[in-house]
Amino acid sequence: MNTLAIDIGGTKFTIAVFDYAGAMVRRESRATDREGGKDWMLAQIKTIVREWAAAMPLQRCAIGFGGPVDFERQMVALSTHVGGWADFDLCLWVRRELGIESVVMDNDANAGALGEGVHGAGRGFRPLFYMTLSTGIGGGILTADGVYRGADSYAGELGHLTIRPEGPDCLCGSKGCFERMCCGLWLERDYGKTAKELIEDPDFVDAYVVNLALGLKACIMLLNPARMVIGGGIGKAGDKLFIPLRNELRRQVTSWSRARLDIVPGALGDDSVLYGALELARLHRV
Ligand SMILES: [Zn+2]
Repeated sequence: MNTLAIDIGGTKFTIAVFDYAGAMVRRESRATDREGGKDWMLAQIKTIVREWAAAMPLQRCAIGFGGPVDFERQMVALSTHVGGWADFDLCLWVRRELGIESVVMDNDANAGALGEGVHGAGRGFRPLFYMTLSTGIGGGILTADGVYRGADSYAGELGHLTIRPEGPDCLCGSKGCFERMCCGLWLERDYGKTAKELIEDPDFVDAYVVNLALGLKACIMLLNPARMVIGGGIGKAGDKLFIPLRNELRRQVTSWSRARLDIVPGALGDDSVLYGALELARLHRV
């Protein structure tokens, strides 16, 4: 059985095909045209998938979407980064336009948690907390029973945790959110440089990890995860980021807490969500 995996992110989309043995046999990634928004992206996906489908049957599809997803209803709730997605029935679109009946969708951070938790840096670690640190910030919680989604599919949404009450305005209407202070989109707007360039500067990193640790500390105190895996573009920064971050977490987390501080970068690079989508398809035979 071949599985089509779709990762819809804030600045790009990636699609792949996994064969019956779980090997990735096709992969294509393209930058998101913000002006074109949803319709542009769906047209691109349709063109690529039709070409692939002519060469191999695609029996099922799983999607990791870069924004809140109502998992029970299998609907996109909204995207704060790209317009036109609110309450869109993406699964129905896949059935109609791509002709694949078996479709399942989750938030990209939940998919990323599954991907890293089963195939990557989180293998064998439960509970696992996965955080995507890229254009935006998203979180996914994986317990021994699978993804923990909460009562309304909003568990793990720590991007809008307030870490600086007097901080700048966030797109969500609040101030000083974790995402507002730490994600790639805002770093670029605030500093005029990409996150990748900024992380080369140790003085920037020293200040940055304070904010990053404020958000992660909340997660450690609440969940006591066996491991935290950081994926997404900024998560690929390596020791330049992770060594100061671990030191700052040790400083911030309350001294009587014996909760472990195990925090590592993702092992699947840009493919955490795709591998997670494969697992999602395996778990949810719809
Ligand atoms: Zn916010």
